[in-house]
Amino acid sequence: MTSEDEGEEFRLQANSELRFEVESKASVEIEMVDGQAEMFGTELAKNKKYQYLSGAKVAVFTWHGCTIKVKGKTEVAYISKETPMVTYVNTHAAMEQMRERADAENTRGPRMLVVGPQDVGKSSFCRILVNYAVRLGRSPVLADIDVGQGSLGLPGTIGAMVVERTADVEEGFQQTAPLIFHYGHNNPNDNLQLYNMLVSRMAEIISVRCEQSKKVNSSGVIINTAGWIRGAGYESLKQAAGAFEVDVICVLDQERLYNQLKGDLPDFVKIVLLPKSGGVVERSKAARAEARDGRIREYFYGLKNNFFPHSFDVKFNDVKMFKVGAPSLPESCLPLGTKAQDSQTKLVPTLPTNSLLHHVLSVSAATAVDQDIVETNVLGFLVVTNVDMDKSTFTVLSPSPRPLPRNILLVTDIQYMDIK
Ligand code: ADP
Repeated sequence: MTSEDEGEEFRLQANSELRFEVESKASVEIEMVDGQAEMFGTELAKNKKYQYLSGAKVAVFTWHGCTIKVKGKTEVAYISKETPMVTYVNTHAAMEQMRERADAENTRGPRMLVVGPQDVGKSSFCRILVNYAVRLGRSPVLADIDVGQGSLGLPGTIGAMVVERTADVEEGFQQTAPLIFHYGHNNPNDNLQLYNMLVSRMAEIISVRCEQSKKVNSSGVIINTAGWIRGAGYESLKQAAGAFEVDVICVLDQERLYNQLKGDLPDFVKIVLLPKSGGVVERSKAARAEARDGRIREYFYGLKNNFFPHSFDVKFNDVKMFKVGAPSLPESCLPLGTKAQDSQTKLVPTLPTNSLLHHVLSVSAATAVDQDIVETNVLGFLVVTNVDMDKSTFTVLSPSPRPLPRNILLVTDIQYMDIK
């Protein structure tokens, strides 16, 4: 179904939702002309036009009824009265009670892990809960340990931040000073030991951050995870639950996972099974790869092409480049007393070569190589757009102008072709 270009009005009754998808290479503008509505927990302003770009999948929900004008090419656009929003707001209310108790007793607020298969709306659910908390004056921590999408950093990283403002209706949460760790691959299974170590490290830092602020501490932590829930993926979810010392695990749409967690986790962890929204759209492998690419593009160019990245040459000699994790050797080949596992989290110096081309690099916040670089956060990212072995330089795409803020760079597996 394609809506008319001159626009179409949708009248939504209370507790219903307008869902639409923007056609590829098109854009859609929406405007709430009457009533009240919210998008993944952020209230829409009346008579304000919001724009969505190619491929966006959006839901506008109303508790009390509203009228929405939609202009542009939508692939689908329909109203649904079947939404899990009442269950979601009840979850929020339960969290709020835990926060009130934390305030009264001067203790820690709720820590929630959100788990489930791919494409069940985990990220959207986290966004709704965080927004609802912020709307009540809370400052929760949002953590994302899904290295496949990297919504807070880039794919290949995990991140967390304290959220003090609701997400922007078009652009999502404003990322002021997120804490990002370099992992380097888009699948946790590529280096599980490193992945688990970084998740634990992030949990530790978040706990320290919570101790510094009573408000953040009682607001709690919401942790979004990857849809990898079997085998080693399941083990890493349990590991994350332990590292963050979570009180609640919300399982979206999978009874099997819910029962498994109920059987395996201690009783003081409350496991809740929640339905997914019928509006969540399943993405193919290709669509997921495209989303990853889009996220990198957005980092450098902005969602609406409103950022202007810089391009400049860097001398090989001016930087120190590393990879994390060495290929594992059989234990018989290792020095006495070392384990094969250790090599997975080892920092390995790398010399620049042509193979760096198109790779994303993380700029470490570390200032000296004797710091624990693997467990130090990163400041930002570069993409290698050219390598000149004769001149011993490489060209980077960078969000900020020359010089680089630091000279310790970590190479990721992730590639991005900078074609406009
Ligand atoms: P997950 O984190 O489980 O992979 P997401 O929250 O990223 O799932 O949701 C997948 C896609 O579905 C996203 O593009 C999101 O915008 C869209 N989506 C989520 N909820 C709805 C809904 N109620 N109606 C329409 N689209 C939705």
